[in-house]
Amino acid sequence: MEITFYGGAREVGRSCVNVVSRRRQLMLDCGIKLGDPIEYPLILKEDFKHIKNIIPTHAHLDHCAYLPHIIQKIKKPAIYATKPTRDLMQLLLSDYQRLQKEKRFTTKHIEQVLTAIKQTEFKTQIKPKNGLTFTLHESGHVLGGAMIRLEGSKKLLFTGDINTRESKILSGCEKGLRADVLIMEGTYGGKKDRLPSLKSASKQLVDSINETLRAGGKVLIPTFAVGRGQNIMMVIESYMRSGALPKVPVFTDGMVNRANRIYRHNVIYAKDEIKMRILMSDEDPFKSPFYKVPRTKDRSDVLSQSCIILSTSGMLTGGPVLTYLKNILGNPKDKLIIVGYQVEGTLGRKLLDGEKYVVLDKDENKEYKVEMKVETVPFSGHSDHDDLIKFARGIKGLKKVFLMHGEPRKLKELAYDLEEPHLEVIIPKNKDTFRI
Ligand SMILES: [Zn+2]
Ligand SMILES: [Zn+2]
Repeated sequence: MEITFYGGAREVGRSCVNVVSRRRQLMLDCGIKLGDPIEYPLILKEDFKHIKNIIPTHAHLDHCAYLPHIIQKIKKPAIYATKPTRDLMQLLLSDYQRLQKEKRFTTKHIEQVLTAIKQTEFKTQIKPKNGLTFTLHESGHVLGGAMIRLEGSKKLLFTGDINTRESKILSGCEKGLRADVLIMEGTYGGKKDRLPSLKSASKQLVDSINETLRAGGKVLIPTFAVGRGQNIMMVIESYMRSGALPKVPVFTDGMVNRANRIYRHNVIYAKDEIKMRILMSDEDPFKSPFYKVPRTKDRSDVLSQSCIILSTSGMLTGGPVLTYLKNILGNPKDKLIIVGYQVEGTLGRKLLDGEKYVVLDKDENKEYKVEMKVETVPFSGHSDHDDLIKFARGIKGLKKVFLMHGEPRKLKELAYDLEEPHLEVIIPKNKDTFRI
């Protein structure tokens, strides 16, 4: 079995791994690395012609957004994805298309990707033509998110992004699978990465929001359209219903609203509690009366009052969140609450790191002084250091682990704590190939 890392090794972004065994092939993820400039997987020219089967684990761009690029370079690939992944990909890829500076693909290419998708269910063994036999298992990361377990001369488990714990919407990832080789993410694999329980993170979030609302301020929570956004909405909804949060308007803005619609349509993929509430009661948490949508283009209706705002993009790299930020940045009464991972170099990371002057728009050439409060509540869709170790140790028959999708320092710390006499841990580099 031959494993090649085209992207996502020693970095968070452009996840892309190719596996070949007895001339059968499978590409695991096909993502990009957002940033300026955008970075793509480092696929060798001569390798394109061997790529026939691709599985995006989930709809986040770092796992699927290279698809409209690669579809122009290879003949009729088969793409395997769950239904929520397909639907969410349609939304996120269209957004990515609008935001790309160089026009490298068009709507036509997104359509080609969508038509190439063979809808795949969890826990169902698939035998692709010329491809390796595989099964998808729930990753607990976002709706429809999958781990891939494939069978060649060796059994290999690819985690994609995983959350081992239960969240507001999903049960945690599947555990205790059997595999000889594991390729695992390590976004929060650092020694000091300890994520609080959902309960304690929720409490922290509610306390932080309450402090600002009591002082008459506004709370801005930048969020990813898919995953984190829905979880935060569920937390706020349940605390407002119980009275632990005052019933101020909660505005949701940007792509998160369109993603919510897809979540509702695919609710059979959510955990039972959410399924029941949407399908069998009038208490649809996505349609709670607490939620409002802004009515004005300049968002003045939102900004004129004390409120909670949930808006994309999650790392403050674009989207309506910047309109809000511009307005609250200079007000010490207002607060920005960061809830997710912030890639190095993004505005979100700069604010998180406590920078006092920031540029919001490169073309504007203006620095803004940060006077608002900035807090972070770790609401992650990933697993922390201890969760990852427990997950890997729970895999039956495991002999080898490759760590990817993480900052090099964190992966090193994770590898150090994971290694055992009978378990080899490798931190590959991009373009590395391993024969096992
Ligand atoms: Zn993800
Ligand atoms: Zn990812």
